[in-house]
Amino acid sequence: MRPDALTPLFAPVATLSGVGPKTSKLFDKALERPHGGEARVGDLVFHLPRSGVDRRERPKIMDAPRDQVVLLEVTVIEHRPPGGRNTRAPYRVVVADETGEIALVFFLANQQWVERSLPLGSKRWVSGKLELWDGHLQMVHPDKVLDEAALAKLPAVEPVYGLTEGLTQRAMQKAAEAALVKAPDLPEWIDPPLVAQRRWPTFRDALQAIHRPESPAVFDPQHPAHLRLAYDELLASQVALGLMRARAKKLGGRPSVGTGKISDRILAALPFTLTGAQVEALAEVRADLASHDRMLRLVQGDVGSGKTLVALLAMATMVEAGRQAAMMAPTEILARQHYERMLPLCEAGRIKLALLTGRDKVAERRKTLAALEAGDIDAVVGTHALFQEAVAFRDLGLAVVDEQHRFGVHQRLALGAKGEAVDILVMTATPIPRTLVLTYFGDMDVSVLREKPAGRQPIDTRALPIERLDEVVAAVGRAIQNGARVYWVCPLVEENEDLDLAAATERAEVLQQFFGDRVGLVHGQMKGADKDAAMEAFQRGETSILVATTVIEVGVDVPQATIMVIEHAERFGLAQLHQLRGRVGRGSGRSTCLLLYKPPLGEVSEARITIMRETEDGFRIAEEDLKLRGEGEVLGTRQSGTPGFRLASLDVHGALLPIARDDARMIVEKDPELASDRGKAVRTLLYLFEKDDAVRLLRAG
Ligand code: ADP
Ligand code: MG
Repeated sequence: MRPDALTPLFAPVATLSGVGPKTSKLFDKALERPHGGEARVGDLVFHLPRSGVDRRERPKIMDAPRDQVVLLEVTVIEHRPPGGRNTRAPYRVVVADETGEIALVFFLANQQWVERSLPLGSKRWVSGKLELWDGHLQMVHPDKVLDEAALAKLPAVEPVYGLTEGLTQRAMQKAAEAALVKAPDLPEWIDPPLVAQRRWPTFRDALQAIHRPESPAVFDPQHPAHLRLAYDELLASQVALGLMRARAKKLGGRPSVGTGKISDRILAALPFTLTGAQVEALAEVRADLASHDRMLRLVQGDVGSGKTLVALLAMATMVEAGRQAAMMAPTEILARQHYERMLPLCEAGRIKLALLTGRDKVAERRKTLAALEAGDIDAVVGTHALFQEAVAFRDLGLAVVDEQHRFGVHQRLALGAKGEAVDILVMTATPIPRTLVLTYFGDMDVSVLREKPAGRQPIDTRALPIERLDEVVAAVGRAIQNGARVYWVCPLVEENEDLDLAAATERAEVLQQFFGDRVGLVHGQMKGADKDAAMEAFQRGETSILVATTVIEVGVDVPQATIMVIEHAERFGLAQLHQLRGRVGRGSGRSTCLLLYKPPLGEVSEARITIMRETEDGFRIAEEDLKLRGEGEVLGTRQSGTPGFRLASLDVHGALLPIARDDARMIVEKDPELASDRGKAVRTLLYLFEKDDAVRLLRAG
């Protein structure tokens, strides 16, 4: 049960005085709960102001920073009420100091209020965001208009919060203050020596320091108050991951030892030998499978490093041990592709492989399900359809999850629950930096495939302005004359699927004018079967150019493809560019990647393109990406900050992560039931950060 002390933080924001049903909707939006829903008091408390207005700083109009909230001392010069019939025109009040003048702008103004608060000739303090509009300085709806006496009553530093349209700074400040009053003093969950050594404030003091700032220094993310709260959040996530892992360990594994028979037949059917990195990773996986502990391993390898094969051989080992294996892919296309590529190898190994996706016909699906339950199918590849309730196995021993970050931890656990002591192998093509592995996967064991299969040639990467499209089309034309296969990727336009589609469709039409039916098209809104058909036509060489939106981003394998054209490369993140480029250079042919961009390039886009031209090392690219864009981008999300975290941001608080992990490890080891005094405080911490799932594991024991 959630401790009573936390109850006030879990009350809806609407219960605060001054927050009505209408504004509460705005708070829901501004506070963005991780999984949506009604905003709570605790969300307000965790919605930290990012900056503040220091009232002791009293800039003159000429020197005042633009696009920031400022406090100005002014004299009222002129009133310009909206004239004539145009009721939508704003009420403007011109105010000035000795260095310049600005307009205060009020839309749909209450005329009387404006006249009363800003009498002509009076001295006033106005605070709001100062903007340059059409060559003039203005402040739209100042959030404060004060005389000297009112100013004296204000705090020295006023917090400035992130808002949403329709919500005022004032409303947010009042609500945050009302929420803060409800924030309880909680027992300390951080190791006392750490708190002492770092001179961190208590949880409640840290919140107060930031919401009621005494100096702007508190907005520095390295301020002890921020560090403390970031650490709280990191500790909660590490303890939660630690508990899950401890439970997996405690439930134990079932040793599964292969005979090598099936694997040998598969290896014999391959036209190549395994790379050293594959051999090593496979040995690590097999050792895990054979042990009494449950496997929780991440196979991290750049695009084209041969992870899928490692996974297949792991599955073969499990089948040799007499149990079943499943592989879950993030998309229909990928599931199908894995299936098709694995099928001949499984036939060679004499394993029965099935495909299970949301698109199967009912009768077919029923047959597959029955065969899985009866154990007539040894291995299955599928989409998230795999962890639906109807799916039962005779004896699932291994679950392989491809491209993990698209699935949540919950889904992973759901698949793990489909069998007794299911070993879990996660494959990720995103070369996640070490720090992120820790955050998202906790203490997972990691195998890295750093070496690529021999014979791969470096990809010639070039950047060209879009004005040279004609040349590119001509070059592509020559290349397909010689049998080349070309991907042509059209980008995300304003995160709008319809527009994306228009861009890709239009490009396909243009190319069709040149190359007729050699041009195919695949995009996210096509029906599954049409997508497959387009992919297959390209795979078989019936089409030579495949125009695509980013649906091909992950994992698609057509070794004959040697040219990748990426339009509007400046709009893609580095990780995405790298993933896309990884679609070529997979066979023995020499490959080219053309990054078409629209000049002028911004600083970040230029840096990205330079890095792309410099290296194909996904690990280096991931690190650079982290530096350029913050870690959200590395994982392919558009969120800013660290996905899944509200207070901690790994690029600023990353150094706290190993400390939190070690501390979490110690807590879970010494006090696995969280029964000691500190353990109980840690329970509170878990509830505070809504890690209820993890606490539930304790009782499930
Ligand atoms: P990943 O999943 O890591 O992107 P894949 O497993 O899809 O990589 O492998 C990419 C391509 O390389 C596939 O066509 C695969 O058959 C081939 N491949 C895998 N291992 C080797 C190897 N040891 N030598 C040569 N080619 C390999
Ligand atoms: Mg793959």
